[in-house]
Amino acid sequence: MLRKPLLLAARSAACRRIVERTPLTRAMVHRFVAGEDLDSALPAVRDLAGDRLVTLDFLGEDTRDLAQAEATVRAYEELLAALGEAGLGDRAEVSVKLSAVGQFLDRDGEKTALENARRIAGAAAAIGTTVTLDMEDHTTTDSTLGILRELREDFPSAGAVLQAYLRRTEADCRDLSGAGSRVRLCKGAYDEPESVAFRDKHEVDRAYVRALRVLMEGEGYPMVASHDPRMIAIAGELAAANGRGADDHEYQMLYGIRDEEQVRLAGEGKRMRVYVPYGTEWYGYYMRRLAERPANMLFFARSLITR
Ligand code: FAD
Repeated sequence: MLRKPLLLAARSAACRRIVERTPLTRAMVHRFVAGEDLDSALPAVRDLAGDRLVTLDFLGEDTRDLAQAEATVRAYEELLAALGEAGLGDRAEVSVKLSAVGQFLDRDGEKTALENARRIAGAAAAIGTTVTLDMEDHTTTDSTLGILRELREDFPSAGAVLQAYLRRTEADCRDLSGAGSRVRLCKGAYDEPESVAFRDKHEVDRAYVRALRVLMEGEGYPMVASHDPRMIAIAGELAAANGRGADDHEYQMLYGIRDEEQVRLAGEGKRMRVYVPYGTEWYGYYMRRLAERPANMLFFARSLITR
């Protein structure tokens, strides 16, 4: 019931101003966001990298401003240089939203996003790591996959994200299941219309399993991004049935969610990667996390009432 309004609020500038001004929000945001700058995020990354892998997201999305897109690219370059200096090139990669690096600019948006993604992928390659392009709402899927195709010509290890709730995704999994292809499969975090997406939770779960089967049977590298114990168990079964060892696939979860399960999976020798967001542009990301779990919202509301 709360999911739709929260996802609408995630895109509202007025709601953003209210939430950002709420004094208690900051403490709550820190459950999901590692810090507002690189210096505060790096200690969390070092801690996690002891037993887990990491992908870092410099928060930002939907920019219409070329200077802001450029600032985001520079932040990624700075981040990657810092990861290299910290000797974390083999433990950490980066996740990038194309809408943060120019995809929505009125003039030459896609061209700018591709050039910027190339710069970030180049900086990643220089320290021995790679980049994964996050997936945003369905209006961007074709554009993002087109940019990924071009990016992979120079940086073949660049990864994609596919969202199981989209009706097209099983076919996209087939297209992206070839050798060398890295695909993160998630359920999907946006409010999508029935015409393009499954909206019933059970239907989404079934679609997730179908898409995962395609990826596990393929020749690429599946990245199982879910906190759902059933999806994780099924992923293990599909990996075993397809003769995949621990190095042939990985599990991914978000920073601050099911930490004990992350530790448990890593302790079993599985490749476990944590998605670590940081930066001041946390609003959209935070609202999507609230929308995923009503209990998060109730906790938030209770804190506002009792403060
Ligand atoms: P659900 O059925 O939603 O949740 C299963 C269980 O996990 C819940 O019962 C609860 O215990 C726990 N849980 C799930 N979410 C939360 C939460 N917010 N707070 C507390 N507990 C929670 N989506 C995109 O659209 N594009 C992307 O690029 C993208 N990248 C992602 C990268 C990673 C590494 C991960 C893990 C997710 C990503 N997502 C992305 C989000 C994803 O689409 C889902 O919205 C989110 O992961 C919740 O789905 P779930 O598979 O965990 O299953």
